[in-house]
Amino acid sequence: MNHYPRVYLKPGREAAIERRHPWVFSGSIARVEGTPTSGALVALHGAEGAFLAWGHYSAASQIRLRLLSWSAAEDPDAPEFWRARLLRAIAGRAPLLADSRTTACRLVNAESDGLPGLIVDRYGDAVVLQALAAGIDARRELLRDLLVELLHPQTLYERSDVDIRQHENLDSKVGLLYGAEPPERVQISENGLQFLVDVRRGHKTGFYLDQRDNRRLLGERIAALVQTGRHPDLLNVFAYTGGFTLYALAYGGKMMGGVTNIDVSTDVLEQSRANLRLNGFETERVTNISGDAFQVLRTLRQQGRSFDVIVLDPPKFAFTQKDIQKAARGYKDINLQALHLLRAGGYLFTFSCSGAISADLLQKIVFGAALDAEREVQITGWMTQAEDHPVALTFPEGSYLKGLICHVTA
Ligand code: SAH
Repeated sequence: MNHYPRVYLKPGREAAIERRHPWVFSGSIARVEGTPTSGALVALHGAEGAFLAWGHYSAASQIRLRLLSWSAAEDPDAPEFWRARLLRAIAGRAPLLADSRTTACRLVNAESDGLPGLIVDRYGDAVVLQALAAGIDARRELLRDLLVELLHPQTLYERSDVDIRQHENLDSKVGLLYGAEPPERVQISENGLQFLVDVRRGHKTGFYLDQRDNRRLLGERIAALVQTGRHPDLLNVFAYTGGFTLYALAYGGKMMGGVTNIDVSTDVLEQSRANLRLNGFETERVTNISGDAFQVLRTLRQQGRSFDVIVLDPPKFAFTQKDIQKAARGYKDINLQALHLLRAGGYLFTFSCSGAISADLLQKIVFGAALDAEREVQITGWMTQAEDHPVALTFPEGSYLKGLICHVTA
């Protein structure tokens, strides 16, 4: 242990570390012994000198250390350490991996899987790695070898092109790590529905895997509305490649009314068409509107349109605590517009994927929107990220996706 650089905390900063929070901010650090490079393994010590944990150093980031292990006896630079952690994460997905109707899932969810800064997603025979932090970036080759050994993918592709890498002073890295170049579109199955995923250029690593269970909930709600004799129609706002749309069509069957997708990107709407065809759905039942949702929702209202079900799944509005107020105004606006557009008896599936917006705050925002829209609204369900995106109890920051199912009664 002696040859590793040592980082010493300021007095009184041990409590969070003893509760096993995986981050050490630069402001908590008293001094550094040795000259760790970014990504290097370092030993964290308390102000009194006692060993506390092992972590990866990041010279540029405010998150100066990401902690890996609280055991002095463990060697987090050994390949066996990484193999064991990866195996543990993959074993946690065993039920999903055994489900032949679903061939895409997150295998490694960073801090919450004890692998800070590492995302690994599986899309059929293709595996995508995303390095969010310097410690992972420095171990890409080891991780490549281990993932090939453990998963035998046809393709291992890197999508380390997220903005937050800038905080770590890391450039974007995109490309093949192992095997064959991925096809233009990888075909996956999710709960028996087929999707084409662009792992090279798609959002995140290609698909919003975190919404899998919520897409099914939407489908089940549509099916329940059909049971009552309705022909429910759907407005899918921030539609991406049509995830919620496909579930609505599958669960609504012949009784499903029309679907309207809104997205600012014509590209993703084009891909949603391909997904419809792939599943044998009639594309005439779906209208695509490309444009800014804030504007399009207003236009639909001016046109006197109304819907039975609306999904609002916007991109992240709040990146830090500082953005909360502005983000809250954005969330309130789209929820207000959506509540105006819903028929009595309709349902709103509304989401926030901003870590800084709590479930409680989202509920308050929707409450404010309901008051302004003069609608009576009850919550019939709370939603979160799918089980392959777990949240370690030591890392509540890992809980980012929140959603409410709202029943508009009048
Ligand atoms: N519900 C989707 C994921 C939505 S991701 C699914 O289940 O797969 C958010 C989407 O919002 C992206 O496709 C992005 O292109 C789109 N978007 C971002 N800003 C927008 C805006 N101002 N107006 C309309 N769409 C927007």
